[in-house]
This record gives sequence, C-alpha cells and structure tokens, in this order.
Amino acid sequence: MIIDFHTHIFPDKIAERSLEFLASQSKSAPHTKGTATDLERSMREGGVDISISLPVLTKPEQFDSVFKFSLAINEKFVENNNRGILSFGGIHPADEKYKEHLKLLKDNGFKGIKIHSDYQHSFVNEEISKAIIDEASNLDLITVLHAGVDIGFPEPVHCPPDLSLEVIREVHPRKLVLAHMGGWKQWDMVEELLVNEDIWLDTAFSLEYCDRAQLFRIFEKMGYDRILFATDSPWSDQKTYVEEVRKMPLSDEIKEMIFGKNAEKLLKL
Ligand SMILES: [Zn+2]
Repeated sequence: MIIDFHTHIFPDKIAERSLEFLASQSKSAPHTKGTATDLERSMREGGVDISISLPVLTKPEQFDSVFKFSLAINEKFVENNNRGILSFGGIHPADEKYKEHLKLLKDNGFKGIKIHSDYQHSFVNEEISKAIIDEASNLDLITVLHAGVDIGFPEPVHCPPDLSLEVIREVHPRKLVLAHMGGWKQWDMVEELLVNEDIWLDTAFSLEYCDRAQLFRIFEKMGYDRILFATDSPWSDQKTYVEEVRKMPLSDEIKEMIFGKNAEKLLKL
C-alpha cells in the first residue's frame, strides 16, 4: 500500500489558473494539471493507492467552498472502498469561527487539517495558531503544517523548527505532521531540535533537496515509524518519488512503513 501524504488539487474550473500562478511564484513546473482527474492519472502511473489532498486557504472566507469541494472528494473515496484521493480540511488562522469549522470537519469524517503559515500570514507560534492546533488535537484531528522555507514565498519563514518546537512543547498536539521533513531547507535545525519529539515528518518536495546522508540521519533519529511518504504533487512527481524510495538502502519492512503503514495507522484506515 502506497499512501502519498501530501498532494494538492484544485477544482477543475480554477486548476489551470491556480497552477500557473503558483508555478510562476515558485519558478517550478508542475507534474500534474492540478485536477483530481490528473492526480488520479499520476497515482496510476506511480502505483500510489491513496493521495491525501491538503487544501490551503489563503482567506478565511474560502472555508465553505473548499469544504464542499473536499467533501465531494471524500464521498468518492468512500464509494471507491477507501482508495483514491482523500482530502483534509483547510483552516485559516484568521477564521473567527474556527471552532465551529473544526467541529464541522470532524462531524463530516475528515481526518485532519492543513495550515500553511506563510500563505496565511501568521507565525505558527501565534496564539491563534496554537489554539487551532490544540482544538484539532482535542477533536482527534491530524494537523499538517507546512514547515520550513516555501520556495514560492519570500522570507521570513513562518513555521521554522524552533517555532514548531515551541508549539509542540506548549500544546502537545497528539497528531502533528510537519511537512517537508520538518522544515524545508532548515534540516540542520530539524536534526538539532525536532528529532526527539512526538510528531511525524513527511518527505514532500524534500527527496531531491535534502542531502541523502542527512535525510537518512533524520529518518533514523526520528524513528522510521515517524516518516510519511509524501511528494507535494504536483510539485514533485509521484512515480519518481516511489522509485527513489524503492532504491533506498533500507529494509523492505522499513520501506513498507514509510510507504503506507505509518500513514494507515495515523489515519486509522
Ligand atoms: Zn504542499
């Protein structure tokens, strides 16, 4: 079973426009058209069974439309016997109704939420972000944080490892996933500050950037049960990532954990 814990899709109507904008911001070329249909094509080619879609709300008012879009994706997932694309909910820190919205997500079977502090112009250690992560944890929802540098976004970094550590120590979230191996291009800090924490790291957009020796050190220090296979599709290619992990000098048992077993447990699938 291969679960890609970090992907992005957009409603068909806005997919092309959204990808063009994001691609120009980040100066990187997407590997899918940004639609659910094209992610499914990518999954078939890469042998990926489940892709977790992580919506990023850039304005609190987007909650309702993203909720509806994600709910339809999840209904299809269930019809498909828990295969295909499974969406998390998007939450914006400036959402005054965040408690109500988290409850709505929980009541509708969502497994977790995504927060992207850069695109949401708030630091992860601000009170409101902590309150949202805390409430999500109380509801047994997984929180995925974009962590580290965002290639399409100027400094400052809104979720670096030291601020993540502050949140972890204060909030003690039960199911926190830091994307991009804990902090994109901030991996020295990840090694120094985060590897002993009760959290999960995803490999999204990191295999081609993180030095391999350092990547394996972080795997080992974190524990292989804390690593989630993830691509950040469309920004990395699923098939290439699957092949990269298959080639790694790790045991088959460890690869199975990274590819899907750890995610299955976390998602309670
Ligand atoms: Zn992403």
